[in-house]
Amino acid sequence: MTLEREIQIYEQLTAASKARWEEARRYMPGGDTRTSVFWPPYPLFFTSGRGASVWDEDGVERTDFINNFTSLPHGHSDPDVTRAIQAQASLGAAFGGGNEPQVALAKMLCDLVPSIDLVRFANSGTEATLNCVRAARAFTGRTKIAKAEGGYHGTHDAVLVSVKMSPDLLGDPERPDSVASTGGVPQSIVDDTVVLPFNGTESALRILEAHGRDLAAVIVEPMLGSAGMIPAEPGYLEMLRSFTEAHGVVLIFDEVVSLRVAPGGAQAHYGVMPDLTALGKVIGGGLPVGGFGGRADIMDLFDPTLGPRVSQAGTFTGNPMTMAAGIATLQKLTAVEFARLDALRQRLAQGICDVSAEFDVPVQVTGMGALYGMHFGDHAIANYRDATAVDQRFKRQVFLGLMNEGIIVAPYMVGALSTPMDETHVDKHLVALRRVLARRNEPAG
Ligand code: PMP
Repeated sequence: MTLEREIQIYEQLTAASKARWEEARRYMPGGDTRTSVFWPPYPLFFTSGRGASVWDEDGVERTDFINNFTSLPHGHSDPDVTRAIQAQASLGAAFGGGNEPQVALAKMLCDLVPSIDLVRFANSGTEATLNCVRAARAFTGRTKIAKAEGGYHGTHDAVLVSVKMSPDLLGDPERPDSVASTGGVPQSIVDDTVVLPFNGTESALRILEAHGRDLAAVIVEPMLGSAGMIPAEPGYLEMLRSFTEAHGVVLIFDEVVSLRVAPGGAQAHYGVMPDLTALGKVIGGGLPVGGFGGRADIMDLFDPTLGPRVSQAGTFTGNPMTMAAGIATLQKLTAVEFARLDALRQRLAQGICDVSAEFDVPVQVTGMGALYGMHFGDHAIANYRDATAVDQRFKRQVFLGLMNEGIIVAPYMVGALSTPMDETHVDKHLVALRRVLARRNEPAG
């Protein structure tokens, strides 16, 4: 297998990105400011994007199947979203008070997401889950939280447990160990985090029952996103709902990514209603954003006329530029587009399976709605452990290979379709994959 061959082609295509990265390393650790978008040998540096295409510093055009990690449902520089941002910019970027676009976007989200009675904004998905966890702790008077192994909820301490870790630290699959996923997370936080298998309904319930009324919250992505777009199996979310209801635990769905699954998010698709929902990405139309909302009696904790019992702040929270971009984006994200992208994703998934079969390369394609994950292995993919038990070098090889062939997905092999895409973009993706697999055994020359 020749990952080296793909690295060689990549280096031939990306000299300007390499030079920029070397300059960047003088000022930013690792030459980047976001560990999640670093990939070896060095990441691309982009100059512009339009619709489904982006251009890098070498002037190479690629089709963008990740759209800043699923946050641009209409692709780059969408004319309606751009107009909305420009119009707001000429009126002012942010004010130290309320603004009408805030109210309009809040109304849209309360109407769209079935379990949201009241909503607040923040500047990132990280802040969204942070406020959900804090509200759950304040509401219940308890400290411990439970989360799924491999579940990513942003970069605050409470959720950086058992996200990504070396396989020898995972422990028993029926009773996963709680493992800090980065340096700097206090042991007390690790000790207060109960880790559940994703999709192991019976084992997860056994673990939950052992903690019962000590838990403030269960936080879960209804579809594991960065672990590989792995949907919850029937019964799993329902079990979490009935357990949390019976034990007075706040159920939090992190729909920062899974809002792309269906109108109203994964909760509408599954018909399971959480108490609180964390939002982000698409609701800000490509600008920095987070949001959180849910049951009125919990969200009332943030109401200053009643206390407040939980404070929330943020200089840029609810700024009208982000709100305007979010409104323009959600207006165009119609049920018709959801259905069209879902069908397109199914066509792509089938194509990936067919192309891989031509080369006897085993693959599983997971996902829902506009979102998909590619797993090069012959075992079913139901959780984080399944997703990591694939040949990691081959994964890197295909990731760089697709990049070399003009297709961008996330380094962990997930993608998101955007509304400027149609069958021609899907077919390009498949042609690229065919070329990468055809040369998979070529040595570096
Ligand atoms: N939750 C999920 C499910 C995410 O995928 C992400 C980001 N990829 C976050 C939360 C954090 O969002 P942000 O990067 O805006 O802080």
